Amino acid sequence: MKKILASIAILGSFAFASSVNWSYHGHTGPKYWGDLNKNFIMCKIGQNQSPIDINKKDLIKACLNPLNIKYNSKATTVVNNGHTIKVNVAKGSYLYVDGKKFELKQFHFHTPSENTIDGKYFPMEAHFVHISKDGKIAVIGVMFKIGKENKALKKFQNAICSKINKKKEIKAYLNPSELLPKSRDYYRFNGSLTTPPCTEGVRWFVFKEPVEMSKEQLKIFSNIMGKNNRPTQPINARKVLY
Ligand SMILES: [Zn+2]
Repeated sequence: MKKILASIAILGSFAFASSVNWSYHGHTGPKYWGDLNKNFIMCKIGQNQSPIDINKKDLIKACLNPLNIKYNSKATTVVNNGHTIKVNVAKGSYLYVDGKKFELKQFHFHTPSENTIDGKYFPMEAHFVHISKDGKIAVIGVMFKIGKENKALKKFQNAICSKINKKKEIKAYLNPSELLPKSRDYYRFNGSLTTPPCTEGVRWFVFKEPVEMSKEQLKIFSNIMGKNNRPTQPINARKVLY
């Protein structure tokens, strides 16, 4: 019974949290997220917040193992939820790390990037959000730079609606791994969700190598999302492993 009550409370707070208006601008923007709702308090007092600037001075060479990514399912629908363009993924894609299995739920986009590398912003960053059975979160970040047209984005870019919460089916077969760079070298650090409620304890993995997209493609994403990147947060006691 206790367990049931606890899950109702969690569901309740999520429902409430999502009904609070937050944005990237003005009085509901990132500076004020922690004051908009008591459930958003970590946005204000958290010490391990994301995004961060991945800076040379905070790097530690840890000889990380290659990420064990097994994406075996397809992207199903795309939706503009008013904060980001989000692509939902069918069951069956996993990230294995720290002896745990994390299931890929969705990926979404930020223009410009949220994390920066040596102070440098990229025009776009994708976040692949994975959740384990016990509710732990792992996010893979992929940077985009301007170059040739991205074939994976092309498979759903025309289905993106400016109308909020209108889900559209992705007709082409798109495996989420098509959006990952060839080189699997990455930075690893502890962080948080970059949107309210800014929950901490998130395992972050940002690929060093960006992938390419055309100027026209960037326009499609940035026209709909606008500037939807939270400013970088203090790194505090954290280190970045590579
Ligand atoms: Zn994100």
